[in-house]
Amino acid sequence: MPAYDLIVIGAGPGGYVAAIRAAQLGLKTAVVERRHLGGICLNWGCIPTKSLLHSAEILHGFRTASRFGIDAAEPSISLSKMVERSRSVAGQLNAGVQFLLRKNKIDTIWGEAEIADRGLVRVREASGDTPKGVFPPGDYEASHIVVATGARERVLPGLKPDGGAIWSYHHAMTATAIPSSLVIIGGGAIGVEFAAFYAELGTKVTLVERMPRILPLEDAEVADLMAKALHKKGIEIICGASVSNAAVAGACLSVRITLPDGETRILDTEKLLSAAVSWPISKDWGWSVLVSNCRMGPFGHCPRGARPYRASMR
Ligand SMILES: Cc1cc2nc3c(=O)[nH]c(=O)nc-3n(C[C@H](O)[C@H](O)[C@H](O)COP(=O)(O)OP(=O)(O)OC[C@H]3O[C@@H](n4cnc5c(N)ncnc54)[C@H](O)[C@@H]3O)c2cc1C
Repeated sequence: MPAYDLIVIGAGPGGYVAAIRAAQLGLKTAVVERRHLGGICLNWGCIPTKSLLHSAEILHGFRTASRFGIDAAEPSISLSKMVERSRSVAGQLNAGVQFLLRKNKIDTIWGEAEIADRGLVRVREASGDTPKGVFPPGDYEASHIVVATGARERVLPGLKPDGGAIWSYHHAMTATAIPSSLVIIGGGAIGVEFAAFYAELGTKVTLVERMPRILPLEDAEVADLMAKALHKKGIEIICGASVSNAAVAGACLSVRITLPDGETRILDTEKLLSAAVSWPISKDWGWSVLVSNCRMGPFGHCPRGARPYRASMR
């Protein structure tokens, strides 16, 4: 008999919540994680960005205090303390997930998982630190497997984030100095959040979106209100534009974009943040073992309603 009723691969919000619910319903459950309990959301996404935005909001409050009858001197900014707080909040939530898993008697297996065969999860050693109290790499059997491996950043051609002039959201979240200018590629939620944060710190921000409006996945009314709020902060928004290329020119980066009318424009900037959509992690964990004759969608998504997928999990 398999050791587990359920193994969940990936301990992000998709995975750890499913594991807790399964354990509460009486299944002997384990999660496998290779990097961070809580996934992107708690460690590098939703939570740490909200901490940074809260710092920006307080800064804004100081700057507009006189409107409310409060005289406050121009505040001084410590980016390093903002980043430190954001990382510490993420660390606390990461520890909270560890506590919740333990409380619900879920085993945490540490390493890189793949489905080696039906019902067989093979876990290899992962790079980086291993937390205390976790199970080691090895072969683990389960009657059911949930894959909750999340997504990885999409790297735009010629714009591989290096932490120098070209940033990923990791770099934008742990910056050591406030850039004088920042071009953000991608006007989705992530791009908009960093635009608002850095504009408040005094950076000249330009937001470039390929679709006709920012926040293309949200309601148009919401996107319009957000565009107005960002304009008020001095952010330039360029929609319907795509990046053709970028080249380092001395201390600055020259980004060539193609506008909707076919004209090109060069944006000179100190930093560029690549905040385009993410790709699902759909190949590393052994998809082909389960569904040999099922083709993935163009972005690596599992096809919706792929019947063999569910059947193969049983
Ligand atoms: C900057 C930023 C801000 C965001 N802000 C918000 C927000 O405000 N609100 C919101 O709703 N969403 C937000 N998101 C999106 C949110 O982070 C994701 O939707 C969410 O994390 C997805 O959860 P998940 O569990 O599917 O995947 P993830 O959180 O990515 O978790 C997947 C986990 O699986 C692990 N894993 C992957 N492959 C393997 C393997 N083979 N073996 C073992 N482990 C593996 C990964 O290490 C990871 O921990 C934001 C994202 C970013 C980048």
